[in-house]
Amino acid sequence: MSFKHVKPALIVFAAPSGAGKTTIVRHLLKTMPDRIAFSVSATTRKPRPHEVDGKDYYFLNEKLFKQRIQDEQFVEYEEVYPGRFYGTLKREVRRIKDSGRSVVFDIDVKGALNIKAQYPDDAIIIFVLPPSEEVLFDRLRSRGTETEEQLRPRFDRARWEIAQASKFDIILLNDQLDEALLNAEQLITDITTHGHTVHRRY
Ligand code: 5GP
Repeated sequence: MSFKHVKPALIVFAAPSGAGKTTIVRHLLKTMPDRIAFSVSATTRKPRPHEVDGKDYYFLNEKLFKQRIQDEQFVEYEEVYPGRFYGTLKREVRRIKDSGRSVVFDIDVKGALNIKAQYPDDAIIIFVLPPSEEVLFDRLRSRGTETEEQLRPRFDRARWEIAQASKFDIILLNDQLDEALLNAEQLITDITTHGHTVHRRY
């Protein structure tokens, strides 16, 4: 059965770090490639092992990144961590829309609100909510990559981010991952079939 797409939407996923956003976005891209494609952001941070330039990010040095800002090539950009810039490129969004698919973004909370402000009719912003602050903090601790001291600013940031959830169109609860993945699939099906932007909890 062929699938007739409504007007391509901008589907933005944001969440505090550790909420499972990237896992959910990767799953959707794998299962629904005819409906959605990923907006590859530019960043000045160094690639992690297994990350591929042009697939996970466009890895740029700071000079090039700032040049792109000057040239107005970004839809939005943020200094997400001190000295580390991330931005959504206008040409990524154009490329995907031209293919007739909806554009999926994995960006931070400020970036999501920024895109909604610029495209109130086309953007649907989704907040991936962990079941509680405690669960989120435990998940971050269990990575074992930061000391308690280093974790504190991340916790503060996460608290601020969770406080922004009510500004989002849709809240996707990630308690049990399997359930969250199914709900996320349903959500993409709804958006790309009906194009509606109702406020809902999934
Ligand atoms: P990471 O370094 O872990 O890949 O990403 C750090 C944070 O930056 C994540 O919250 C990620 O979603 C966010 N991010 C990635 N790309 C962009 C972007 O283009 N714009 C904004 N505002 N945030 C981004």
